[in-house]
Amino acid sequence: MPPALLLAGGEVLDPAQGLRQRLDVACCDGRVAALGRDLPRDGHEVIDVSGKLVVPGLIDQHAHCFIGASDLGVRTDEICASTGVTTFIDGGSAGAGTFEGMREFILSRSRVRILAFLNISAVGLTYLEVGELNHLAYADADAAARVAREHRDLILGIKVRQQKEVVGDAGLEPLRRAIRAAESAGGLRVMVHVTNPAAPLEDLLTLLRPGDIVSHFLHGRGDGILGEKGKVKAGVREARRRGVLFDVAHGRSHVNFPVARAAIEQGFFPDTISSDLTSGGAARIVKDLPTTLSKFLNLGMPLEDVVRAATATPARAIGREGELGTLKPGAAADVAVFDLEEGAFDFEDADGHTLAGRRRLAPYLTVKDGQLWWRRAP
Ligand SMILES: [Zn+2]
Repeated sequence: MPPALLLAGGEVLDPAQGLRQRLDVACCDGRVAALGRDLPRDGHEVIDVSGKLVVPGLIDQHAHCFIGASDLGVRTDEICASTGVTTFIDGGSAGAGTFEGMREFILSRSRVRILAFLNISAVGLTYLEVGELNHLAYADADAAARVAREHRDLILGIKVRQQKEVVGDAGLEPLRRAIRAAESAGGLRVMVHVTNPAAPLEDLLTLLRPGDIVSHFLHGRGDGILGEKGKVKAGVREARRRGVLFDVAHGRSHVNFPVARAAIEQGFFPDTISSDLTSGGAARIVKDLPTTLSKFLNLGMPLEDVVRAATATPARAIGREGELGTLKPGAAADVAVFDLEEGAFDFEDADGHTLAGRRRLAPYLTVKDGQLWWRRAP
């Protein structure tokens, strides 16, 4: 058995526990064993992380892993280890017709914990040039519900892209089918992509239920969250009051800094901040989840809220609170350690705007299931 691990003297920031102070973190048998000042060191491999920020292993609530069998996808272990991501949620790369393959060839072979939303389109995201819902028969609610039940250990909900170019003239019917599939699979959530939506956003939001997730809510294409005079629309605030969650899901084309700044200035923070990482996005503006988090830090969100949006809140959104996204003793021993660097850093959005930042989260070390997974080379 590998030795127990002790991360000593870092600044622990765990929003799930309302905690921000200098503490040691002890990990044993894959679990957080203890959190405290000057914990006993005997029998532990000790790593000094003083001066660094220690947070729960990050949960990327929307990214893409199905490399080689969908149009999107990254080599998850390589990118997650070096960015503090210990839980990776696939945002609908596979549908009922392809999920078995994603399970066998990706999910079961990855060290990072991967969970998934199943695309309502049976073909998933195999060929984006056409769009998975232009042929509506692919939106097979019965097949999606069956596959979601069969893979209930890994499938968290149903994904649907309600973008004009994706649904053709089907309007909101794909979303209705996704909700039907989620309900018939046993009360699962729906994740809906709203960039350039095929119906007014507020109409779309009225269909959503508490716990459903709006992806890409800060996009700059087509009907969005801002109404007259740049105010967050009443229907958007009303959806949040009902328990609908708003996720960033940055991706190659879904974050617009002026929209994000307006939302943040009006106190409409993202519930969750995810990367929507794809191979194209990793190479260009998205880069990774810590870069995405750093953008929101520089847009004016406090550090605690930024960390909460990639730990405690996504854990709750997927029904794993207490187990993931926290350093509470007994939780999975997934830990991410960062340097909070100060300097001059430029960030880009999807629409050609730049942001001159002064702070950034630089990954230093990642622990997965109580074992050192990655550490920045000296
Ligand atoms: Zn996506």
